[in-house]
Amino acid sequence: MDVEKKRPGLSMKGTAVIVCAVLAAAAVFFAVDYYRTGRRYSSAGYAMGAVVTQNLEGRSAQETAAKILQDITAAERKSLSRTAEGSDIYRINAAAGNIRTEVGADTAARLTETLALCKASSGALDITLGAVSDAWGIGTGARRVPPAGEIAALLRQTGYGKVRVEAAAVTHPEGQSLDMGAIGKGIACDIAKDIAAANGIDKAVVSVGGSVMLYSSSDRETFTVGIRNPDGTASEYMGILTLKNGFVSTSGNYEKYFELGGKRYHHILDPATGYPADSGLTSVTVFCQSGLASDALSTACFVLGYEKSLPLLEKYSAQAVFIGGDGKVCVTGGLKDLFKLTDERGFTLVDQL
Ligand code: ADP
Ligand code: MG
Repeated sequence: MDVEKKRPGLSMKGTAVIVCAVLAAAAVFFAVDYYRTGRRYSSAGYAMGAVVTQNLEGRSAQETAAKILQDITAAERKSLSRTAEGSDIYRINAAAGNIRTEVGADTAARLTETLALCKASSGALDITLGAVSDAWGIGTGARRVPPAGEIAALLRQTGYGKVRVEAAAVTHPEGQSLDMGAIGKGIACDIAKDIAAANGIDKAVVSVGGSVMLYSSSDRETFTVGIRNPDGTASEYMGILTLKNGFVSTSGNYEKYFELGGKRYHHILDPATGYPADSGLTSVTVFCQSGLASDALSTACFVLGYEKSLPLLEKYSAQAVFIGGDGKVCVTGGLKDLFKLTDERGFTLVDQL
């Protein structure tokens, strides 16, 4: 079975207006209460291989939404894409073999921050798995289980520690292929936040696939974010978070997968084995103050499992909701009062997983 991402639906609900963007692509869906009328703009688009939904409130809401989508698309095309000819990552990959590639300062800065996260996660996040993902057909649609020998050979080329980043140039060894798939959507959310803040937007919720940016010019504003039920349809949620400004990203094993011989093969790989990560989790949702970090951490924590994720989350002042394969749910200390389980029949809150 091959699962495709669907487009979102926007619906209005309730007496007070609640804009509820149900994201099929995202593991998170959100609902935002608007207390004021007018000056609101909602849109849905596509970038970074994902659906982008925007709900903005402010004087220049429509123009700002257009600029956000434009800048995310430009970042993808010029910096982050593996497939867009001429992007920095594309050129770095084409020059694998320790040939120095000049890149934009933004790409160098994003790579430096990401490599620090690879290191902090003890390699659970590893952006050098591009060729291994390709062997599984992730992203290409040609899904297959590669022979063990093929995976072993590809793993010899991987390793984030082999990538060297200077102020505006990158070098990495032959056979390696960098893949920013685990952080691109979070970076897109950072871009959205910067533009919203710079354009005097009062309130914005922007989602890019499984990453969501929550912004308000008032630090009293709260947002309600639903966490997708991993066993349900894209619009079903199992609990809600009440959050202030920040970024939320979810990684789950139901997002992209195929089944063969009764076994599910999903798209988050354990860099140590080259096989889909199997830490007993179904999904991890991370909340913190950086889009890049929230996206990177959700992927890393999914690979690491509950116990090993805790010190990593602490290092980045991040909070998380873990869902185990058996419906057990565990939240970190900072979310204890902010998370509410809404599906009490399918899930149980526990102190540790
Ligand atoms: P999604 O792309 O569904 O939002 P993630 O943010 O968790 O999910 O990123 C998964 C993507 O990152 C994969 O599709 C693949 O391109 C890449 N990837 C898979 N495993 C890893 C890993 N351990 N470290 C870094 N990138 C990974
Ligand atoms: Mg991620």
